[in-house]
Amino acid sequence: MYLPRCRALVAVIAVLIFSLPSLAQSKAPSLTLAVDATEAPRKIFHARLTIPASPGTLTLYYPKWIPGEHAPDGPVVDLAGLKFTGNGQTLNWRRDLTDMYTIHVEVPAGVTTVEASLDYLSPAGERGFSEAASATARMTVVSWNQVLLYPSGWPADQITYRASLRLPEGWEFGTALPVASHSGNEINFQPASLYTLVDSPVIAGEYLKVVPLRPAGEYPPHEMDIAADSAAALDAPPEVWQDYRNLVSQAYALFGARHYRDYHFLYSLSNHVAHFGLEHHESDDSRVGEDGLVNPGERKLVAGLLPHEYVHSWNGKYRRPADLTTPDYEKPMVTTMLWVYEGLTSYLGDVLTARSGMWNPQEFREELAMTGAMLDHRPGRTWRNLQDTNDSAQVLYFSPPQWSSWRRSVDFYPEGVLDWLWADVIIRQQTHNQKSLNDFCKLFYAGPTPQPNQAPMVKPYTVDDLVNALNQVAPYDWRGFWHERLTTHAAHAPLGGIEGSGWRVVYTDTPSEMSKLAEQNRKSINAEYSVGLALRDDGTIVDAVQGMLAANAGIGPGMQVVAVNGRKFTPEVWHDVLKATKTASGPLQLLIENTDYFTTYSLNYHGGEMYPHLERETGQPDLLSDIVKALPAK
Ligand SMILES: [Zn+2]
Repeated sequence: MYLPRCRALVAVIAVLIFSLPSLAQSKAPSLTLAVDATEAPRKIFHARLTIPASPGTLTLYYPKWIPGEHAPDGPVVDLAGLKFTGNGQTLNWRRDLTDMYTIHVEVPAGVTTVEASLDYLSPAGERGFSEAASATARMTVVSWNQVLLYPSGWPADQITYRASLRLPEGWEFGTALPVASHSGNEINFQPASLYTLVDSPVIAGEYLKVVPLRPAGEYPPHEMDIAADSAAALDAPPEVWQDYRNLVSQAYALFGARHYRDYHFLYSLSNHVAHFGLEHHESDDSRVGEDGLVNPGERKLVAGLLPHEYVHSWNGKYRRPADLTTPDYEKPMVTTMLWVYEGLTSYLGDVLTARSGMWNPQEFREELAMTGAMLDHRPGRTWRNLQDTNDSAQVLYFSPPQWSSWRRSVDFYPEGVLDWLWADVIIRQQTHNQKSLNDFCKLFYAGPTPQPNQAPMVKPYTVDDLVNALNQVAPYDWRGFWHERLTTHAAHAPLGGIEGSGWRVVYTDTPSEMSKLAEQNRKSINAEYSVGLALRDDGTIVDAVQGMLAANAGIGPGMQVVAVNGRKFTPEVWHDVLKATKTASGPLQLLIENTDYFTTYSLNYHGGEMYPHLERETGQPDLLSDIVKALPAK
């Protein structure tokens, strides 16, 4: 969605990809946008815009397709208080009858500027992405796409906004958006394109910690801007900051280039905002619980988030699938290549998490074992191939956890870890360890660092570009490899990369440390690989894996286990009884409540608990340990 400028080579690609403005002879519009966030704690934002106009119909859009969310989930339902005036008169408007994000304003003769005012009703619900809860009593993240309209007819990078933001008294802020002036709680930003504005959210709060990640004066600068619901949540031990410094240097060692003027990790620590990560070219909007930095266990569980979003600055923002490179937020995004955009990012994010020290090699392997096991128990693979999880991403992002083993979900994330590990292993094998996916990264993501006065650029790619680059690193049937990965309906997960790297997935009755942490901190019980049930710690069944024992007996999602072998359900009772099935002579008896009715199910199960681990494949070289070793830092 970014129209690159000033570079002849990229301009050629851009002309092919972007539709030209319909009013090419007119000057691209310049708007002002004043956002009042002083009422963020009560979850309402006010905005005023001035929009150049001429008599007739002025067509405005509210951003619909949100970059990085790969879906038409702009929160138009939360747009309220919309009013337009021109020369002091109220102007009539009507919503487009076939597109809820399009507003038509009637502009009378003599009016050259339309003033718009609107409110954004920031939700309290925590499920979702940037459109979900984003403001608490002590902090907020302002996503500009939620508080603006833009005129039709121009690509987002040609429309200029002069934005200002007013914060609650005493709140500090962090953002990658260049600031023109800052006085008290009022910030004036430098004029920026709509593209850059939407790509540059602002984090703000009463408790805001700024942590520089590179030496002062070095270009480009890197910092963390962390807002929390308490001062105590920011008080992480020194090694945490060192890990993030390592992340910056390990990413540079991997890619050999940077494509931003400045990078800001915007990190929200709150139990009252939605938890997710959203990438931007020069920042990321990542949100975890309030104890995400100070609780060592929680820190391990969320460790992969910032590395993932940071990788996106290269993979997703700088290099972007051509069919996701749209000119504005109205044109639909096509998501056929998320297996690269998200899949490769998931793999590289995990690898960088280990290389920067946030996971040790054992923790990396435990995560990988969990990924392999989960995908190996997804019978939905037999009807929905990996390509279809890409193609239907815009609906799968909003699918519930119930039935996920049969529906599948946005599996191109975890399956990308397995597939790109496999690709990494193939390159290492084909080149006798002379090359690796690191070489592909240096080749595919090469390019100059933008100067301080240049917006970052986008270099779109196709499957052909990807296959050609892989072949330059190591000649191989890459097209055939990816075709098989994307179209197979095999019942089992692609574990060739794990096996080729010298390891295999095994199951024991002892949970790994990462499995244990996930169960404790997420209040869940993983019995998917034994009887085929995913449970919450109150016995509620989240999923019953199709084809496994519990599902075959008639148990399904939404039911609740109330007793196990005649004893009231607790997580401890569950684990004890399941473990004892190995030596028990009778069946496992589950008393289950289903919509107010109770039924006892007997499962003839004697396998004990089943938790995944990686075990060394003797005789095979241990490529996995090489992969997670830190690179010589730059
Ligand atoms: Zn991502």
